[in-house]
Amino acid sequence: MSKLILVPTPIGNLKDITFRALEVLGSAGLILAEDTRQASKLLNHYNIRTLLQSHHMFNEHKSVESICNKIIGGLTIALISDAGTPGISDPGFLLVRTCIEKGIEVETLPGPTAMVPALVNSGLPCDRFCFEGFLPQKKGRNKRLSGLAEETRTMIFYESPYRLVKALNEMSEHFGRDREACVSRELSKIYEENIRGSLAFLAEYYREKTPKGEIVIVVAGKKS
Ligand code: SAM
Repeated sequence: MSKLILVPTPIGNLKDITFRALEVLGSAGLILAEDTRQASKLLNHYNIRTLLQSHHMFNEHKSVESICNKIIGGLTIALISDAGTPGISDPGFLLVRTCIEKGIEVETLPGPTAMVPALVNSGLPCDRFCFEGFLPQKKGRNKRLSGLAEETRTMIFYESPYRLVKALNEMSEHFGRDREACVSRELSKIYEENIRGSLAFLAEYYREKTPKGEIVIVVAGKKS
């Protein structure tokens, strides 16, 4: 039976993809990709010739109905994002929800995402955690952080290198200078770096050494 299949793709090293993901991408009737040029790099590397169509946050509202109709009509469609798991700080949610509402089968393959290696590698408790994704850039940023001041679970944030120092300073104010944290940069890439220490130390470290690349911040929860 036809369905929607969400396929996680590498966050760095192109080898970080499962055999099953490659099989699904090779056999789907259509691949929806956040950025078709980015997707082509991966698909060419694995010699996959499946038809590609663009599906991103600017066109997803318009295209979900026709995508659902294609699946109902018998086409199995794979959804990929630029990197990692679709739906995790990436397009996917709207399509999944619409498919479920219409009774269309949805399957998500297990696979790469930045938050899990960052969490596990941080050395901070990973028995209970919360994923906060990107903080709002302006309005609501302060409120989001103050709402997390009493959080006892380990917290995971995605952040741009341009706002890393600002974020660490703000977290220092809301959670305390000595709160333990880890910044994971460029996971699964040549210049992967994991720096652990207090929020104050990390803010100072990256003030002196301007960060580049993709970043996950993992922060210990408040001690209960
Ligand atoms: N869907 C992706 C996932 O499953 O992790 C997340 C996509 S989101 C648009 C991109 C953000 O994820 C980056 O700004 C960064 O915070 C994080 N990220 C993605 N790849 C990363 C990597 N290789 N190293 C560190 N962080 C990464």
